[in-house]
Amino acid sequence: VKKNPGEPEFHQAVKEVLDSLRPVVEANEEKYRKEALLERLVEPERVIMFRVPWVDDKGNVQVNKGYRVQFNSAIGPYKGGLRFHPSVYLGIIKFLGFEQIFKNSLTGLPIGGGKGGCDFDPKGKSDREVMAFCQSFMTELYRHIGADTDVPAGDIGVGGREIGYLFGQYKRIRDSYEGVLTGKGLTYGGSLVRTQATGYGLLYLTEELLKINGKELAGKTVVVSGAGNVATYAIEKAYQLGAKPVTCSDSTGWVYDPDGIDVAALKDIKEVKRARLTEYTKYRPNAEYHEGKGVWSVKCDVALPCATQNELDLEDAKTLVANGCFAVAEGANMPTTLEATKYLQENGIIFAPGKAANAGGVATSALEMSQNSERLSWSFEEVDAKLQGIMVNICHNMADAAKKYGFEGNYVVGANAAGFEKVAEAMIAQGVC
Ligand code: NDP
Repeated sequence: VKKNPGEPEFHQAVKEVLDSLRPVVEANEEKYRKEALLERLVEPERVIMFRVPWVDDKGNVQVNKGYRVQFNSAIGPYKGGLRFHPSVYLGIIKFLGFEQIFKNSLTGLPIGGGKGGCDFDPKGKSDREVMAFCQSFMTELYRHIGADTDVPAGDIGVGGREIGYLFGQYKRIRDSYEGVLTGKGLTYGGSLVRTQATGYGLLYLTEELLKINGKELAGKTVVVSGAGNVATYAIEKAYQLGAKPVTCSDSTGWVYDPDGIDVAALKDIKEVKRARLTEYTKYRPNAEYHEGKGVWSVKCDVALPCATQNELDLEDAKTLVANGCFAVAEGANMPTTLEATKYLQENGIIFAPGKAANAGGVATSALEMSQNSERLSWSFEEVDAKLQGIMVNICHNMADAAKKYGFEGNYVVGANAAGFEKVAEAMIAQGVC
């Protein structure tokens, strides 16, 4: 805390990981201490901060703060998304970059951990303003990234449009057509299934985890928060697996649709019109729209937080348990507070942490990198089958790791331990660096 003042989200992420790694560290104490392994692990290899000046539609110059945190490259080039949201500051990017190390390791693919972003708010901006901003952002970032160095992707506020503008500017400056970003459009090196990957992956893992616990997803009522990329495709896949998703939310309000969320309406509102969920009842008069926060008050079997960090607190956890919810799987990064996670686990809820449950996005990004390297595009079915295989593997690896260290059923310990082991071994093998 002294070394990283004013970064509560980063402290929270480090505490969660280090607390749950205690059994792993105790089993290897002398080796890790000699190597100062944990001290090195919590310090990013490199932090880049830069000015992003751009001109708005009124001709005024705006200035934002850009970041890229290259956290750990022990097992592969840095990989992790870019977040454009007014709440972005160094502590958020460091928490996300730190989580990314273990998530990427869990996928079984050769990718290190990184994250970046900016306090720019794309909401309400014209396409031209977003383009001007992205071009300025990349005019600094390009010198720090590359297909074999650091490969950013999307996150909150960064979707296909933004990745397109960023890629165009990189190519223009470097005069090089390479897989430097993932989440690209299908006409210029993107991968099928990348758009759906995080949401679909979340449901593949949830289904498998329920199976391990003698339960099934089909026929269950699912409550989802968020209305962005992860939430939309989580809702879509929930239907495909026979469940019924009944809620979604954005930063102004939430929707309860007793007949099940209408995916086509959701996509039209959020992806096409870029509008607010207030519109939803125009498509579905039977649905309810409420201002503020509230999806966790809806009775459900399974809860999938897919919006943002710390959106599910202790009170929400108590409500979920009281309402008979039996599983929570995190589509967002760190959506559940530490107290809420503890309460859920102590009350017998099957709890899948984000670094395992939402790893499908980055896994499919790594598949996009492979396709770019061989200059080929795989079919939807091929990528989807690989994604499903990866999520099922992650599920078993985290369950097995939890058992190995004497914490059967504690998937927070399992995911952290399974992700950490490979990174620790690679760091030690590569010497003090
Ligand atoms: P989007 O920008 O597509 O959607 C985010 C959604 O969450 C929007 O509905 C947004 O509402 C809502 N939201 C964002 N911030 C807040 C807030 N402070 N309070 C309430 N609601 C909020 O982002 P993604 O769907 O891509 O990301 C969602 C989460 O999933 C993030 O935690 C991200 O890090 C994580 N994630 C994403 C991956 C991906 O592949 N996209 C991969 C792995 C994790 P509004 O529209 O009003 O802003």
